[in-house]
Amino acid sequence: MNIPQEVARRRTFAIISHPDAGKTTLTEKLLLFAGAIQIAGSVKSRKASRHASSDWMEIEKQRGISVASSVMQMEYRDCVINLLDTPGHQDFSEDTYRVLTAVDAALMVIDAANGVEPQTIRLLQVCRARNTPIITFVNKFDREVREPLDLLAEIEQHIGMDAVPFSWPVGMGRTFRGVFDIRNDRMRVFRPGQDRLGTDDDEFVQGLDNPVLTERFDSEFAKAHDEIELLSEAAVPFDQQAFLDARQTPVFFGSAVNNFGVQEVLDTLVERAPTPGPRQAQEREVRPEEPKFTGVVFKVQANMDPAHRDRVAFVRVSSGHFQRGMRLTVSRTGKEIRPNNVVSFLSQRRDLLDDAYAGDVIGIPNHGVLHLGDVLTEGEKLQFTGLPFFAPELFQAVEVADPLRTKQLRTGLTQLGEEGAIQVFRPAVGSTLLLGAVGQLQFEVVAHRLKTEYGVEARLLHSRYTMARWLSAEDPKELKRFIDGNLANIAYDVVDAVAFLATSSAQLRVAQELYPKVQFHALREHG
Ligand code: GDP
Repeated sequence: MNIPQEVARRRTFAIISHPDAGKTTLTEKLLLFAGAIQIAGSVKSRKASRHASSDWMEIEKQRGISVASSVMQMEYRDCVINLLDTPGHQDFSEDTYRVLTAVDAALMVIDAANGVEPQTIRLLQVCRARNTPIITFVNKFDREVREPLDLLAEIEQHIGMDAVPFSWPVGMGRTFRGVFDIRNDRMRVFRPGQDRLGTDDDEFVQGLDNPVLTERFDSEFAKAHDEIELLSEAAVPFDQQAFLDARQTPVFFGSAVNNFGVQEVLDTLVERAPTPGPRQAQEREVRPEEPKFTGVVFKVQANMDPAHRDRVAFVRVSSGHFQRGMRLTVSRTGKEIRPNNVVSFLSQRRDLLDDAYAGDVIGIPNHGVLHLGDVLTEGEKLQFTGLPFFAPELFQAVEVADPLRTKQLRTGLTQLGEEGAIQVFRPAVGSTLLLGAVGQLQFEVVAHRLKTEYGVEARLLHSRYTMARWLSAEDPKELKRFIDGNLANIAYDVVDAVAFLATSSAQLRVAQELYPKVQFHALREHG
């Protein structure tokens, strides 16, 4: 097998968006264009059933399905594309953030009526911290939406990069005429799409100054023409390196539900998005073309059958060539595993996987041998840096209804904490454990799993904390002084990292001012 060649044709990305911007629709259309599904609607119906139920136990039942839809692999124009799902609103949790550590690029979808919305901003922050290149798709131009120039300015402001339009909308809503492909100097004429791929009925008109365009599309085209001219003078030209360095984002306009403007996005992904890059481990840099296999667990998902504590560890391949049945070593424990029933995600079917290369994701079913952040190798001891734990924003105290089951509660919470389902804090004072999450659903999932998997009826109680910061200081004496002086607000997480819990941002600010030599971290990196 030619590893460098296989790496070069991999593209691994995630879609980031606010709920309802059109992520599911776009995902489906990308799969459709890549020929991975014949009829759009399969992703949609799954989502509908998931969201129709507010009872999250339904979600539990659906987990088998959501494992399969967490990663979608498709082939398009000689490339293997891995699309990693970032769970949306209802399931929002730390998992969502961590998925972004496993991709090489992100596709940001924006609802043209609403602009850049809060959840997109949260996800953007993670991308920005990692310098992930971003392609932008502005959706729903078949509706009355905001002015494209305004949207472009808003994107630039939030994303902190230059936004370089690759296409430009001609009209909108009822007078949506199409998009002008600036780089290829041609207009794609709008035609409401169907669920299947049109054969070759796409219509193009060449040339910005083509009189046919002015005749046919009149004032809409005149306006777009002026805007494109304005942009050609004012906007910075596209620069591939600036895109890869996350200093520029190519921007597309379209309507996902109408199959319109989607192909351009897919083509750009293949032509411009980065191939899997090197990964930094504590010991050394790992390059994707290296012959030996390495990979990192970025997500652990409990599977359907609680009786078996069955889990799927999602491993992003960092280097080498994975083959079914090969022996792998878990760096943390030195244990050897030999995964035979590895799951791949080609075309959304849970096929058994035979080969995988850097950028691919494999799912390894296991019974708790694999933890979040674990590194798998062919024997070398490695620890990758950069798997983030985010400071929780929601807190609850946890008590056990039956004191005789306190031990089970602790065991359960330790394991769920290691799995990354929730963060568990042990306060320096008192014995009540605290749970921290970034999404409310995490608490419900944990309470349910404590009951079904560990036989513990947990009571979740109000907690006055609203923020947590991990602490460090160059001088250990300073850190000790801080801890001693703030004992009531000190807690330790599952790996015994010390954190300061605050009830308000004002309290945090005061602490920071009083102890300038102590550093407060909103993010802890694994390892
Ligand atoms: P998600 O929550 O981001 O996954 O969003 P969905 O893909 O489920 O889309 C939310 C709603 O917007 C659905 O009712 C879609 O049919 C609709 N939608 C998606 N794309 C478009 C579009 O291009 N135009 C219009 N008018 N509606 C769209």
